[in-house]
Amino acid sequence: MERVKCLVIGSGPSGYTAAIYAARANLSPVVIEGMQPGGQLTQTTIIENFPGFPNGITGFELMDNMRKQAVNVGADVRSGSVVEVDFEETPYKVTLDDGKVIECDTVIVATGATAKYLGIADETKYQGKGVSACATCDGFFFRKKIVAVVGGGDTACEEANYLASLAAKVYLIVRKPYLRASKAMQDRTLANPKIEVLFEHNTEGLFGENKVEGVHLVKRKGEADEKHYDVAIDGFFLAIGHKPNSDIFKSYLATDETGYFVPGDAGGVRTVVPGVFVAGDVADPHYRQAITAAASGCKAAMEAERYLSSKQ
Ligand code: NDP
Repeated sequence: MERVKCLVIGSGPSGYTAAIYAARANLSPVVIEGMQPGGQLTQTTIIENFPGFPNGITGFELMDNMRKQAVNVGADVRSGSVVEVDFEETPYKVTLDDGKVIECDTVIVATGATAKYLGIADETKYQGKGVSACATCDGFFFRKKIVAVVGGGDTACEEANYLASLAAKVYLIVRKPYLRASKAMQDRTLANPKIEVLFEHNTEGLFGENKVEGVHLVKRKGEADEKHYDVAIDGFFLAIGHKPNSDIFKSYLATDETGYFVPGDAGGVRTVVPGVFVAGDVADPHYRQAITAAASGCKAAMEAERYLSSKQ
């Protein structure tokens, strides 16, 4: 059975930064890329808040650079996903989707988060036929069309504004009577003439022959003036937050009610299992930025190195 000193699970900014630090500390890290190599940033357009790129950089390019940098310093980056872990005793065992089991002295869990869906059947029915959870990936297909975005946070407002630059009209479906987004983002959204915010609205379903042609809405659900009506749309975008990818670790590592890891130290990367560390969005309900994810990947790799040194 293969045995590695440091296994990094995930290939977003936290995973690659962990791999760069671990490789330079002679831990010969193996990175298992996961289902979305490069992570969520590969689905964004331009990134202007990652230091070092005065003119911005595309998410894809940034992640490609990180991958190349990790490989150049000695990380072994592999495609595949982790389906099971056994942290009962050292060496820890990690099972991949091809059935292979790797023994690990340390593990850095940097599995990120995945976009949430409402949970209605029509989302599945029309997936790829007008339903999307990534405006920057799929917005292009809705030029001059009518779309709806669900959510009232920063992501929803950002996506609504982005889509408004392409589409003819954007409905923003918000379940509360107010937006949760930052003040600046709220102002920008409310001032955009192409965006119509539908406060106190919920989605009941979608309709259309072979693709999305409209949405069934309910206004002020449960109130005396509850109203059901349909709106014609071509695209339906979910922007209601993310679910941390922590499920397969839950019997070993503590999570909060949403599924974010609750780290065991002030640095935010140690866990109750010695030698197992967490990094990036899967352990961060607050910041969820590329730069904070990268920073925690660095911390996790440094902790892994210290842990291994202390065992010698
Ligand atoms: P949030 O958790 O902030 O917002 C989720 C939104 O979706 C809320 O309006 C919520 O409604 C709504 N929602 C959740 N579930 C449902 C549902 N079942 N039906 C209808 N609506 C639902 O997530 P975001 O992804 O927007 O943001 C996450 C974090 O990332 C935040 O801290 C945010 O500030 C940050 N961020 C920052 C950006 C920036 O600075 N440029 C860009 C994007 C994100 P309700 O309010 O009723 O709970």
